[in-house]
Amino acid sequence: PYDVLVVGGGPAGAAAAIYAARKGIRTAIVAERFGGQVMDTVGIENFISVPYTEGPKLAASLEQHVKQYGVEVITEQRAAAISKDGYVNVDLASGATLKSRSVILATGARWRDLNVPGELEYRTKGVAYCPHCDGPFFKGKRVAVIGGGNSGIEAAIDLAGIVEHVTVVEFADTLRADEVLQQKARSMANIDIIMSARTTEVIGDGSKVTGMDYEDRTTGEIKHLAVAGIFVQIGLVPNTEFLKGSEVAMTRFGEIEIDTKGATSLPGVYAAGDATTVPFKQIIISMGAGATAALGAFDYLIRNPAP
Ligand code: FAD
Repeated sequence: PYDVLVVGGGPAGAAAAIYAARKGIRTAIVAERFGGQVMDTVGIENFISVPYTEGPKLAASLEQHVKQYGVEVITEQRAAAISKDGYVNVDLASGATLKSRSVILATGARWRDLNVPGELEYRTKGVAYCPHCDGPFFKGKRVAVIGGGNSGIEAAIDLAGIVEHVTVVEFADTLRADEVLQQKARSMANIDIIMSARTTEVIGDGSKVTGMDYEDRTTGEIKHLAVAGIFVQIGLVPNTEFLKGSEVAMTRFGEIEIDTKGATSLPGVYAAGDATTVPFKQIIISMGAGATAALGAFDYLIRNPAP
């Protein structure tokens, strides 16, 4: 058995594994795809002390750093269930079971897609998911935000300070965002809100986004918006389906509940990053959380003898 088994190989998992391995304890990472969401990112300008990098480059340095410490890295394996019998057991979809004295869950999250033509083709070429990350790339341009929930309206308010103009496109005939956010957005001169609008297509010139089409659901008419960027804000889904029915407590949104040391409700099981209740989902925040969870797990190991 391992001392620390990290599930997930994104920034949170990599940081957790390095912090654990530096304690001289037997550490492994099991991940579907090393690098996580970072692999889907082009420019990264907010990884402090590195003014500019690109996702695949950062993912490669994460892997190199992890491997320097002799961490066993198992990729292309998906965790399917977790249970405890003295050791924590992680069952893999392949049928194998990994045993460890402690486990750190760092399975991240995924943005919900629009599933319309052009979205995939223009992802990172104008179709964006993170205003903190990509907002500055659209300075002085017109953008759309799809989704009128809290994250959509927050994104619109945030972007309105950077870009020329923001159009919020909401499917329903009301906004779900908190009233205070709606008021703030309505008070800003460069935000328009369109409701009852079903996004139908992302349009581009072959290399970048030039606009989008939506159906006015009240008339059935197809309308066009000329924009350089489209921020999709229709939900971030934690990759925690495999924990359903386990003793690891989650919110109704599927986020793993953690305390200030990264501990979950199941003793010996810690969690970090986008899969948890952490309010802000960013690379640097996930890394800090991974370090916290590893130190939390180490604290657990020195207080609890091996079974
Ligand atoms: P993830 O990066 O999601 O990694 C999760 C890991 O778990 C992966 O290795 C995955 O394969 C694995 N996994 C998932 N389920 C299982 C399972 N059942 N079994 C085994 N392994 C599993 N943040 C910034 O700070 N700056 C940016 O510029 C930036 N740009 C972004 C651009 C895009 C397009 C996206 C999508 C995100 C961006 N983010 C950015 C957000 C940032 O990428 C995330 O906050 C960060 O990657 C979260 O790290 P994580 O380790 O918690 O999860």
